[in-house]
Amino acid sequence: MQSEITVEKVKSVLKKVKYAHSKDNIVDDGDVSGIVIKNGHIGFSIEIDPSLAKKSDEMRREAEDAVRKLSGVISATAIMTAHKNSTSEGTEKLSSPEKTSGKLLKPAKYVVAIASGKGGVGKSTTSINIALALKLQGIRVGILDADIYGPSLPRLIGTSRKPDYENKKLIPLDAWGLQAMSIGFLVESESPMIWRGPMVMSAIEQMIRDVLWSDLDVLIIDLPPGTGDAQLTLSQRLALSGAVIISTPQDLALIDARKGLNMFRKVGVPILGIVENMSYFICSDCGKRHDIFSTGGAQKEAAKLNIPFLGEIPLDITIRQTSDSGEPIITSDPENKHAKTYFKIAQKIWGKLTNQEVKRPEIIID
Ligand code: ADP
Repeated sequence: MQSEITVEKVKSVLKKVKYAHSKDNIVDDGDVSGIVIKNGHIGFSIEIDPSLAKKSDEMRREAEDAVRKLSGVISATAIMTAHKNSTSEGTEKLSSPEKTSGKLLKPAKYVVAIASGKGGVGKSTTSINIALALKLQGIRVGILDADIYGPSLPRLIGTSRKPDYENKKLIPLDAWGLQAMSIGFLVESESPMIWRGPMVMSAIEQMIRDVLWSDLDVLIIDLPPGTGDAQLTLSQRLALSGAVIISTPQDLALIDARKGLNMFRKVGVPILGIVENMSYFICSDCGKRHDIFSTGGAQKEAAKLNIPFLGEIPLDITIRQTSDSGEPIITSDPENKHAKTYFKIAQKIWGKLTNQEVKRPEIIID
């Protein structure tokens, strides 16, 4: 009779995985967490110090092999995450774009990146509402929170439940019919994680390759904020159908947003358009519209740069409350006029995707 696989047994074999130049093992160091055991499929995450980023793949293989040898185990999948208590600087350079492999990841018919020049502009709020608006139009949609520095999908959908595993792959969580995945579902704590360049890509790639995305029409990827190496490399590794840039009007000359546009142009990714978020404010007492940040900057900039303007979303208390309480406005109040704006933006995006011919070389379907 086959003996039962337990968390303790998994931990005991993982103790064999040691750090180079040290006697410490990953279990006694407290780096193994989130062990999931389901019908012979084992999943877990390993937090490693960013200074060991280069060893990350090797350690993952070693850990998976050790667990796979346990009696009754069909598959073992480890997700590598960055060490939260590390004092190392998370600034190692990624390999230069030219050196990345030519094979592109294509987890859905259309892969759309949502990007912003900087954090806090409402990129994640806009991503989830656009994803849900597409879903409600009968499109099969997934959302990947690739913002590994500050994952916000758990907050937006109101859960951080650990995903199950099947055949070595993570099963995305279901959020109102959306297939949803975030590093925030996999790690234990909300404290900031420090990542080194190579680990950023390998963690995000794992969340694309090792997730059971099922028959998706569209995968919305909420990119990490900014336009650094991680974003650039990600844009090159994915068969992106297009990118949507989220900007606020106070980002006046839209310098950050423009950097985003240039980045996508550089790698030949079509810009589907720009969305101006927190565009204006409607006073709940007097009902008047207040253009607090001199609205319209994004629209003007879009015209100047000859890229589509997809719409403006006001700074609105209902959007904030619903976004922060795990009940996005699209599902909690679909008749709300701002929800309707998200619908219109989503329709424009879908229109651009389906009318557009996307030519990219060497596409593989994972
Ligand atoms: P980012 O992903 O760019 O960091 P978030 O989507 O997490 O930004 O938004 C940052 C904060 O702003 C959150 O508290 C969110 O609820 C709020 N927010 C986003 N868009 C709006 C909006 N249009 N009106 C009011 N609050 C918003």
